[in-house]
Amino acid sequence: MTPQSAARWPRMILLADMNAFFASVEQVDHPEWRAKPVALTNGDIGTCIITCSYEARACGVRTGMHIDQARQLCPRLIRVSSRPQRYAEVSTNIMRALACFSPEIEIFSVDEAFLDVTHCQQLWGGPREIANRVKRSVYENSGVLCSVGVGGDKTSAKFAAKLQKPDGLTIIPPWQARARLAATPLTELCGINSGIANLLAAYGVYHCADLQKLPISVLARRFGNPGRRIWLMAQGLDPEPVKCNLPPARSIGHGKVLPPNTRNVDTIRVYLMHMAHRVAERLRGNRLVAQRFLFGLRLYRDWLKTVERSLLPSDDEMVIYRLGSRWLDRNWGGQGIWQIRIIALDPGAACQDDMFQRKHPRRERAHRAMDQINQRYGAMTLASARLLERSSMPDVISPAWKPQGHRKTV
Ligand SMILES: [Mg+2]
Repeated sequence: MTPQSAARWPRMILLADMNAFFASVEQVDHPEWRAKPVALTNGDIGTCIITCSYEARACGVRTGMHIDQARQLCPRLIRVSSRPQRYAEVSTNIMRALACFSPEIEIFSVDEAFLDVTHCQQLWGGPREIANRVKRSVYENSGVLCSVGVGGDKTSAKFAAKLQKPDGLTIIPPWQARARLAATPLTELCGINSGIANLLAAYGVYHCADLQKLPISVLARRFGNPGRRIWLMAQGLDPEPVKCNLPPARSIGHGKVLPPNTRNVDTIRVYLMHMAHRVAERLRGNRLVAQRFLFGLRLYRDWLKTVERSLLPSDDEMVIYRLGSRWLDRNWGGQGIWQIRIIALDPGAACQDDMFQRKHPRRERAHRAMDQINQRYGAMTLASARLLERSSMPDVISPAWKPQGHRKTV
């Protein structure tokens, strides 16, 4: 491909990545914290740093660090309780603003989105102009800065966005992608984990350029289609499209950390019911029902887990709870517990005409009222009386959070 900077690119993908997103939102909402080292923890109880501002990073503070260690590195550190609901709200505003640039948007995580702007080049201009417009729009809609990468494919765009932070803008034209990626270790490309990298190392392949020496057929034979994709990714030719639609949910689950070594059966039952509530509420919110549920307890070293089946597909917390409670009676031998988890497997669309669903019209109405109230005033505003003693540990926002569909949960 020849340089044609002023001409249309055959494909143009942009990645917008918010800078230190949660910490930035806190600094926007609390101007007195701007330009200061801020670190987020899970409520006042959490001791592990979820994320921190660039000012804190400059002192060596990192995600996952214990708060005490962070304070040693940075005595002026401001500790802030994370507010997942707020980040979800700001993210929703940002994503809505980004969707104005192109209908082809893939919300990659709570603070990252791909845009396919191939067909918008005439409307928005060249790569630099589009990227600057995107950055301005994110700022105007949230007060948060972002780094933008523009490339001819998703891998190059993602790689470019990482090169300059914060407030960066990097453009890798498609005709430069192969050369720009050549010296990059494969593990720095999004989607190449250490497992694949280790296998490739056996062929003497460490960097993108090394893959060019290997025929694509070798990767195809060894890894199938994902192998073919990796070979193309390393050349800046990632064929993966920007995926606008969220794939259907394969599972819907909730988990929580218990006070270490919990052995009290009443406490465990309260947690079990809490998780049943959250899973049921999410199923209903997405008009899904499930018949297979995985119940899991994390013991000291491993998980005690089983898949249980309900009589009929359900979205009712009492059905899930009773199933779990019976499972607990049969399987738990009194060992100390660290975590609890319930996952609804292979959920399917709830059928409105289902005889079973119609059998409990009062319960359905109660659920609808409860869900509406909780949606408006926050999760678990209204719940069973037994849950009054539930854990006060705040929830953590999942990186896979999405503003719509089954991932919309905090
Ligand atoms: Mg980010």
